[in-house]
Amino acid sequence: MTERIHNFNPGPAALPLSVLEKVQAEMLNFRDSGMSILEISHRSDLFGEVLASARNRARRLFNLPDNYRVLFIQGGASLQFAMAPMNFLGTGDRADYINTGTWATKAFEQATLLGKNVRYAASSEDQSFSCIPTKADIDTGARYVHITSNNTIRGTQWRTYPDTGGIPLVCDMCSDMLSRPVPVEKFGLIYAGAQKNLGPAGLTLVIIREDMLLWNPDAVMPTLMRYKTYSDHYSMYNTPPCFGIYVAEKVMAWLEEDIGGLEAMASLNAAKAERLYGALDATDFYQGTAAEADRSLMNVTFRLRHRDLEAIFIKEALAAGLGGLKGHKSVGGCRASLYNATGMDAVESLVAFMKNFEKRMG
Ligand SMILES: *Cc1c(COP(=O)(O)O)cnc(C)c1O
Repeated sequence: MTERIHNFNPGPAALPLSVLEKVQAEMLNFRDSGMSILEISHRSDLFGEVLASARNRARRLFNLPDNYRVLFIQGGASLQFAMAPMNFLGTGDRADYINTGTWATKAFEQATLLGKNVRYAASSEDQSFSCIPTKADIDTGARYVHITSNNTIRGTQWRTYPDTGGIPLVCDMCSDMLSRPVPVEKFGLIYAGAQKNLGPAGLTLVIIREDMLLWNPDAVMPTLMRYKTYSDHYSMYNTPPCFGIYVAEKVMAWLEEDIGGLEAMASLNAAKAERLYGALDATDFYQGTAAEADRSLMNVTFRLRHRDLEAIFIKEALAAGLGGLKGHKSVGGCRASLYNATGMDAVESLVAFMKNFEKRMG
């Protein structure tokens, strides 16, 4: 493969080409320092500017009210599955979870592992997680309600967020963070591993409502597990994931300056998804697997009517320059991830390939 391909990977995933080119151009000599960004102190002014800019860009893109903080953490979303209940649930506290699939289940399991008082307020497990539950039986005494905004594996997405009667949402936003505007006031905590829509693996973007930093102050936990540590030290208590923050800053600059913000990004994402779902629905050779009302704009999951053609489809697609179309190993089938950096040109190429494949094999 000598050319870049159209990248439909689920994560780590495509990054904007212009960002990669800037990273490449700066690699040997970052802002006349004579060093790469990988080689400078996280306490240097040079890195300090990168960190502050990343924080400010996240604040602007999310339109964050003053009482929210932006934190940069390591350990991926999976560490947040444990950090959230550790930080928010003290003795006697309860929380509700909504189960929309693998990742939501894993978040719940970490809370139970820690001995926290959590329960499912709703689940779509009995429908194989092909949809988002329509009703949730929310405990009015719950401290928070945990949701997964986009189910990366099954291809479902909360189009509108659940009404919790004012109880803050704690949200795993890994696979649709920065893909659309978010009504931040509904949320107490938003977290996402960077590797889907924001940058390289190893960085987790966390947005937290200030008062929640103090919800469980007496709990004994390692210093690095406490959100307040990151907030008090501007995410620099210890060495932060410098390169990840540097790339994320550039991706957010691209979102702000080239795309024009999250409203504009959301309409581009909607157009891409509509084009691909339209192609799936035009034939029964391909079959979308998620309930129509809950279809994800980020991860389009589908099967071929002839299941035995799926492996050939994925293989031939790659040979045609369309990569990352294999479904998650737990469900099989196909999946096209349409994150921010995967453009309409990629979708058009995929649709053309699908039509051609059907004509040859159908
Ligand atoms: C990818 C993904 C995760 C896992 O993230 P890690 O950073 O690998 O821990 C969790 N939740 C969702 C929704 C994901 O898509």
